[in-house]
Amino acid sequence: MKPVSIMWTQGVELSEARLVITAVRDFLRLVYAIGHQAGLALPPTTIRPFGTWYIPSRPEGSPYWGTPWYVDNSFDPVRQQVIGARFLDLVREEPWQKSNPHWDVAVIDHDLIEQLPDHPGDPGDDFAFGVAIPELATVLSVYRLRGLVRSGQRERALRRLVLQQFGFVLGLPYRWRTRQIEEINGRRYCANHCVMQWFGTVEQLARAADRQPEGVPLCDECEHDVIQVMLTRGRGLN
Ligand SMILES: [Zn+2]
Repeated sequence: MKPVSIMWTQGVELSEARLVITAVRDFLRLVYAIGHQAGLALPPTTIRPFGTWYIPSRPEGSPYWGTPWYVDNSFDPVRQQVIGARFLDLVREEPWQKSNPHWDVAVIDHDLIEQLPDHPGDPGDDFAFGVAIPELATVLSVYRLRGLVRSGQRERALRRLVLQQFGFVLGLPYRWRTRQIEEINGRRYCANHCVMQWFGTVEQLARAADRQPEGVPLCDECEHDVIQVMLTRGRGLN
């Protein structure tokens, strides 16, 4: 399994970053447990929490000099939002993504949108909680969750969001699965009560997070998908 690099912007609180790391770790543990049960031997992986990083030898503002560069180069000043698709393009082109393939989890405190509408005024999503590319990366935002003030709710919602986004990175739901799949705006979600389920508003996310059991609540179909994805990856088909 590829290592997981986690970075976050300076405005992300340490408590939020810790929560992200814990959620990713818990998901990986579940993946290993599922693999073990299925008799698959998975090579070990590592989680590398880089936080807000800078490369001192690169001049400020030059490509890949540090975490702020990704935000500066994907930020839309009119909308005051980071464009997730653009952010992930930068991640995909990272020099060290080629030299040392890994999964990236990026957490930002700015508002996020998947991409700009083709024409100004087009109806489209106003914002995104997270954007992901399977087998590569996710960028997710704490911005919309900060309006949640009930005790523990913001934490539960962030955990739910991280689990869903990391699930996408892991390749869930499996691309050939047809059962219990919901397609929304061209993206595939699990239709069961499951972390891979769709949510469109902060209220829906908070409700789902409040109801979720401890651990990493994956439905049976998604657990099966974990095995399918591992087998596909093992055959080098991904
Ligand atoms: Zn599911």
